[in-house]
Amino acid sequence: MTTQASPEAITVEALINGQNVKSLSQSAKENPTHPTEIVGYFPDTTKEQAVEAIEVAAVAFKTWKKTDIEERVASMRKAIEKIRAAENEIVNLLSREHGKPLYDAHGEVYVALMWMEFACSEAAAALQEQVTEHDHGKTILSYDPIGVVAAISPWNYPIALSTIKIAPALLAGNTIVLKPSPYAPLAAAKVAEIIASEFPAGVINVVHGGADVGVELTTNPKVTKIAFTGGTETAKHIIKAASDTIKDMTLELGGNDAAIFLESFDVNDERAMRRIVVSNFLTTGQICMIAKRVYVHRSIYDAFVEKYIEAANRWIRIGDPFDPNTTVGPVNNLKQKEYVLSLVEDAKQRGAKVTPLGTILDQKLFDQGYYLQPTLVTGCDAHDRIVVEEQFGPTVPILPFDDEDQVINLHNESIYGLTSSVWGSEAEAISVARQLEAGTTMINTAAVQGLDVRFPFGGFKQSGIGREYGTEGIRTYTEPHVINVPNMLDLPYIPE
Ligand code: NAD
Repeated sequence: MTTQASPEAITVEALINGQNVKSLSQSAKENPTHPTEIVGYFPDTTKEQAVEAIEVAAVAFKTWKKTDIEERVASMRKAIEKIRAAENEIVNLLSREHGKPLYDAHGEVYVALMWMEFACSEAAAALQEQVTEHDHGKTILSYDPIGVVAAISPWNYPIALSTIKIAPALLAGNTIVLKPSPYAPLAAAKVAEIIASEFPAGVINVVHGGADVGVELTTNPKVTKIAFTGGTETAKHIIKAASDTIKDMTLELGGNDAAIFLESFDVNDERAMRRIVVSNFLTTGQICMIAKRVYVHRSIYDAFVEKYIEAANRWIRIGDPFDPNTTVGPVNNLKQKEYVLSLVEDAKQRGAKVTPLGTILDQKLFDQGYYLQPTLVTGCDAHDRIVVEEQFGPTVPILPFDDEDQVINLHNESIYGLTSSVWGSEAEAISVARQLEAGTTMINTAAVQGLDVRFPFGGFKQSGIGREYGTEGIRTYTEPHVINVPNMLDLPYIPE
């Protein structure tokens, strides 16, 4: 395939110690809507440059950790304002490199800023030292920064899943080396550069590349914490790589989130029907916390599927991310498109029915980009690949269930446990929700429509370790440090 740089193509460099660092070679990022068009170039960071970025961050940490919280918050607030001022430019770049429609790219920046602002307003309280006077003397509990954080982010929400790490890590007094995904490196690098402009050199560093650079970040002894969002299989490599130096880790991984529709759900509720369709196909289904398998009580199953198809055909308009009518863009990359197709093909081979959903707005564009028409899969088995694997793309299986215990078992037998949703009468839904193994369960909504950055977010089982967002998402970048000042020098059981 012959490619050509777009007239707007940009080049981002690695950022080390406040300087843009030239690379010996660079890679091109294509536009998934027009794959022959290059949106920009990013460097192939070398191992030596990655080591330098880590060392610079380790030096900067010695000074940065001594700054007070007011100074850190003031710098972060200035960065927020700069991001807000550059929002249209950032959104344009994100949309072209990722393929997400403009409204969705704005949504990503909205979530990123919402969290950064929350982290700014909460950091002082979350990190406040606690002094307790007690019978045995006095105890000081402080939340100390951990050191150099390696932040590794995925391609699906490249800005939000980078800032979710940068903001709390810096506010807590750490320094950072960020590595965005090579499948969406440009907008994340631009945003990191904007934030870095408000902080001393070396506090934020950015390197680029894939697993090779990731391995340096996860094995280097000077990195003391890994903040990773990405696939469960990658996380297994990271855990092994980091084991020699026992690094602190937050891992936000894959999900296979179930949406459960109880008998009490009203299939004629058009608003709710639209909400579940959006919860399946926003960002072309490429969200960790999107509803990826739908279970419907058998008594309402047929009516549900009929109403679902109507709602999906109304909301899904597949087209150019820059066309305001478009709700669903292309898949981000060819590998992901082929994987999703293989799952649908597997279901078909096993006798499932595949129903195309939505309207293709521009057939020519559709044929040339990494587009996939969204599909609904019915008549599949509970243990087909399309049901048990994370499809991370525009297809969804809908299956019937007979009773609550059965659907709770189906939910909980997954290796994943990121989010889930239960739909129906509130009391019944909450009662079912309490029995689900998931980091977040939403009632009568799902996916980002139920996200609240004030509360911790993360997964059970192989969906991850630790939490982001909420007070936990700030404290996860600290080590609790206890300073004991006992007034009793001996313990009663120790003999004279
Ligand atoms: P991925 O695991 O392929 O890549 C994520 C990042 O890890 C990229 O920057 C990649 O270059 C880097 N990487 C790859 N191999 C590495 C290695 N050996 N060592 C260190 N770094 C390495 O994931 P992806 O395809 O970019 O993202 C999709 C996955 O992310 C899905 O499974 C999705 O569910 C998950 N995700 C989870 C959350 C969450 O909050 N739980 C959010 C978004 C995405």
